[in-house]
Amino acid sequence: MQGILEQCEQIRPEFMRLWEKLVNIDSGSDYSPGLRQVAEIVGEFCARQGMEITYHPVAAADGKCNVTARAAGTGTKSILLLAHMDTVFPVGTAAARPFRTDAEYAYGPGVSDCKGGVVLALYTMHILKKMNNSSYRHVTCCFNCDEEISSPDSRDLIMELAKRHDYVLCLEPGQANDGVIAWRKGVAKLKVTVAGKASHSGSDPDKGCNALLELSHQINRISMLANRDKETTVTFTKMAAGDRLNVVPDYAEAWADVRAVYAEELDRIEREAQALAASATVAGTRTAVELRRGRPPFFPNEGTQQLIDKAKKIYAELGRSLSQSGAGGGADANLAAAAGAIVLDSLGPVKGGPNHTADEKARLDSLAPRLYLLVRLITALGGEAAI
Ligand SMILES: [Zn+2]
Repeated sequence: MQGILEQCEQIRPEFMRLWEKLVNIDSGSDYSPGLRQVAEIVGEFCARQGMEITYHPVAAADGKCNVTARAAGTGTKSILLLAHMDTVFPVGTAAARPFRTDAEYAYGPGVSDCKGGVVLALYTMHILKKMNNSSYRHVTCCFNCDEEISSPDSRDLIMELAKRHDYVLCLEPGQANDGVIAWRKGVAKLKVTVAGKASHSGSDPDKGCNALLELSHQINRISMLANRDKETTVTFTKMAAGDRLNVVPDYAEAWADVRAVYAEELDRIEREAQALAASATVAGTRTAVELRRGRPPFFPNEGTQQLIDKAKKIYAELGRSLSQSGAGGGADANLAAAAGAIVLDSLGPVKGGPNHTADEKARLDSLAPRLYLLVRLITALGGEAAI
């Protein structure tokens, strides 16, 4: 295994150059020119590794696309690598604070989330090629352009690919404690609307049916559907009612951010919120609730745990210990898991600061270990070799 680690260390200058190049291209989810540029660089890199490239244009014919690259091997199992090309940062961010490094970290917009993961996937394929190692049936890399806006144009592609691969390895940033992600919550929005009856709040307050007052009762009751033991949260974050001080409001609405590790919990919240809505505290009001589901849960499961156990053994070859945790935020791992695949997430370079902010950074000393981990995981899983 020494040879693999050496390769991972030797590749570092090249890795850094490509990382810098990609970070310095603005590629916010809505900035098609930058996303196109990143897609072409990524596609050309994979083509040089002998992979078969497909560009998947998305809705608007402005160049924005997802990219898949496929390598065929001689092993028994197929593996999908997932990393996204888009960032949360607007045009001009790369010029304002371009890629830079110090002794410990690399900085720049998207350096950790998720361009570090993109480059890690690319150099993993490069190292496998250099080693003449193709002990997998297929490796497909999927680089999408819209993860940060919940993957509207890559969702179907990811789910379809996930179904056709034995394992899905996601390259979201490694967790700060050198960890991987074993589960991610599913996300839903709960909309609560109350219809009441307007009335003059001075002369006839009792003739009105106060939608705002009923909504405040409903918010209290529905909030209590959260279940800490199951990590299910119901957090009201937005509310609107009334527009004049002297009128009893006849309409009110509120939104809650709902998150759950288990899909059944989302079903329960929907059912029980509807039951609560059916009984009004303020006579004459009518409440309706609607649960809009976003990314489904990537729930804890045995397949993922087995992957983590393998990854821990590989990491131990380097004298490192890999930690595992869950996350409240969704990602493309949720889609792959919902499609039935065995998924492991957060295999990218280890993050150093909070992502989606100007303090985003990635640990430089995690590059070689994380490259090693991915190369070894692919070779071990691809041929189902014992670790
Ligand atoms: Zn990400």
